[in-house]
Amino acid sequence: MGEDFISYELKEFKLFEPLFRWARKKSLWIVAFCTGCGGIEMPPLFNARYDLERFGMMPNPAPRMADLFLITGYVTPKTLKRIIITYEMMPDPKYILAHGSCPINGGVYWDSYNVVKQLDKYIPIDVAIAGCMPRPEAVMDGIQEIMRKIESGEADGWKRYRENYEWYRKNQDELFGEGWREKDAKRWLAWL
Ligand code: SF4
Repeated sequence: MGEDFISYELKEFKLFEPLFRWARKKSLWIVAFCTGCGGIEMPPLFNARYDLERFGMMPNPAPRMADLFLITGYVTPKTLKRIIITYEMMPDPKYILAHGSCPINGGVYWDSYNVVKQLDKYIPIDVAIAGCMPRPEAVMDGIQEIMRKIESGEADGWKRYRENYEWYRKNQDELFGEGWREKDAKRWLAWL
């Protein structure tokens, strides 16, 4: 094994990638951002009955320190702006697990003017769990699936977001109007 080969492997992180993936799946920190009815299913997941902490998971208020984003139900355009900004603040690699039927197709709000019908047009979802609302066992099943995908390298939403940023940005701008980030940032100035 030549020196070039070793330095290439180290530079590209190919040599240690399986170890990194294993370590990542074993300590997922969840950004505590509850949307929709499924937010009420979050606390039971961390109590003594279902106990997600045994998988090394922890709810966390800071997106900079989290790597798993749970979208727990329907999303309105107003909330989606906050979700996009929070997601972009999280460091790579990061993963999204959506639960409930609403993020997949709008669920019971399929004809509402104020619910986003297909969330993965705006941010990349790695695993989605159907149900209204899914039981904690189903959410745990989804978490097992995302852990499996992290280990195999299939959980690549963060890469897709980077590579197809123009497409995601176009969809976001179509929904909110161009310049929505700047407008939203200045929105509260008039109230100061
Ligand atoms: S899928 Fe059902 S439980 Fe979940 S947010 Fe939608 S309406 Fe609420």
